Amino acid sequence: MNSFDVEKFRQQFPLLGNNSQSIKRHAHEQTNPTQEVSNAFVYLDNGATTQKPNCVIDSHQTFYQEYNANVHRASHVLSAKATAAFEQARDNVKDYINAKSIKEIIWTKGATEGFNLIANTLAHHILSPGDEIIISVSEHHANIVPWQLLAKQSSAIIKVLGLDEDGRIDLNGFEKLINNKTKIVCCAQVSNVLGKVNPIEAIIAQAKAVGAITIIDGAQAVAHFPVDVQALDCDFYLFSAHKMYGPTGVGVLYGKQALLESMPPYQAGGEMIKKVSFNQPTIFADLPFKFEAGTPNIAGVIAFAQAIQFIKQFSHSAIMKHEGVLIQHCSRALAQMPNINFFVNNVPDIPVLAFTVEGHHNHDIASALDSFGIAIRSGHHCAMPLMEYLSLSGCLRVSMAAYNTIEEIDYFIACLEKIITGVDRNIVVNDVSAKKNLQQRRQLNSDDIIKQFIHIAGWHNRHREIMLLSKKLRRLTNSDRSEQALIHGCESLAWLVATQDEDKIFYFQADSDARIIRGLLVIVLAAFNGKTAGQIQNFDIEEYFATLGLMQQLSPSRGNGVLAIVEKIKALTLTE
Ligand code: PMP
Repeated sequence: MNSFDVEKFRQQFPLLGNNSQSIKRHAHEQTNPTQEVSNAFVYLDNGATTQKPNCVIDSHQTFYQEYNANVHRASHVLSAKATAAFEQARDNVKDYINAKSIKEIIWTKGATEGFNLIANTLAHHILSPGDEIIISVSEHHANIVPWQLLAKQSSAIIKVLGLDEDGRIDLNGFEKLINNKTKIVCCAQVSNVLGKVNPIEAIIAQAKAVGAITIIDGAQAVAHFPVDVQALDCDFYLFSAHKMYGPTGVGVLYGKQALLESMPPYQAGGEMIKKVSFNQPTIFADLPFKFEAGTPNIAGVIAFAQAIQFIKQFSHSAIMKHEGVLIQHCSRALAQMPNINFFVNNVPDIPVLAFTVEGHHNHDIASALDSFGIAIRSGHHCAMPLMEYLSLSGCLRVSMAAYNTIEEIDYFIACLEKIITGVDRNIVVNDVSAKKNLQQRRQLNSDDIIKQFIHIAGWHNRHREIMLLSKKLRRLTNSDRSEQALIHGCESLAWLVATQDEDKIFYFQADSDARIIRGLLVIVLAAFNGKTAGQIQNFDIEEYFATLGLMQQLSPSRGNGVLAIVEKIKALTLTE
């Protein structure tokens, strides 16, 4: 199949539903640009994980319904069938990345586990004090923290590579950093924030010239373009199935056979041994099983093979072409909007766009878009050193997949424009009443909040109400926003100050740099202010948020941190 039929591709994803028609109408008619599409769902957080096609979902179900058995262990028919499918999947991955042998394909639970495996086996044994590990500043934490731990244990030194103006690893800088002490070079083929393909061929060649091991993070690459590990000639290549339409909990560590042979096992247990005895040394299994202790994610691995088949069926070149159109369209539309900041030159190579909106907190933009049914990501994207390098506290990231459409991008842009310019009549009208309420200055309690929310239908309207509530929060002074008052666990900044009067009643003041969090703080403080420690401990916050229709805001996801705020209030009052 050469030309890419996006509708046909998209139809394979049940979660995406069929709202593309209404989004299409919105994009084409534009009779009322302030009219949001009811029940819209536009998923633009594919860099975090992609949605799953029917073949992957069905594969899971078929495995558990028809041939669930453990692999490599039994002589019965079911186990033989499961083992055959499991090993066939390994073969499919081998072909997909053009590895030489299935011995070079190790199943992990994701890219993260792959880094930890290498750091704790090979790397641990080759590093001496003073040896150097080179990583780039744009790496995901999964390709930073294992090396930091390792460097500490082995007294090795981490050297950090900067970026050029396009946001790619700076090759000139690399030439200056690399030397005979360099033992390991690890970098991503594509940054999960900047979406630029790094010059890894040159990096690998130069690393080889000094005898350093090369480890390539392919997590963001494999879904978007073909990868050939033999052509790259890297020592290791790692990725996760869930970012390429496959299941979560499955990843691949590719390693050159000779290196894998030389490495000690990572985890120990069943499956990774040939012989265990108390009288003789334990003999480990051959590759790849030496690195696969315990029962693997059998259903996931088999379903992953379906995801690979699915990508192949639609063809990488056709997918790339469609994604190229999405990149151009989205980049151009964003660039034409006022107050949008990009951090590097030129458009990205994969459909991942990072930006900030001047005058707006990232979290406010992301949650406002969420109220229009659009899922994008805000925060540090597990790349805090990159944020520091770019002098950002965080940013927004739109990451597209091959099922996204031009109409979805237009809808996203129209909603973003509406949020930025404040063209939302209800917000303007209600603004006046919010000001009046503010003047009344009566302390809100949880019943007031419930009365206010109980009749509001839909997340879009509730979101609007939260934004109005944000105006009622009395802001903290700069001196109150101390390190001590800072609440950890929020991606935006949030502070909490508690006081207690002579009757042992607690009063809280809080603040945040994100408007949405300020609104949510009003809701949380209404539940706890003016109460004793006992009343605070006994208050059922989940029931309260469920009644308000805001349960999703209490999720332990690090996104908005409301849970962290509640936990801090409960912890502060626990000793009373
Ligand atoms: N590297 C990159 C570039 C990533 O984007 C991610 C996931 N966001 C990871 C590594 C870690 O992948 P996983 O969480 O699936 O282990």
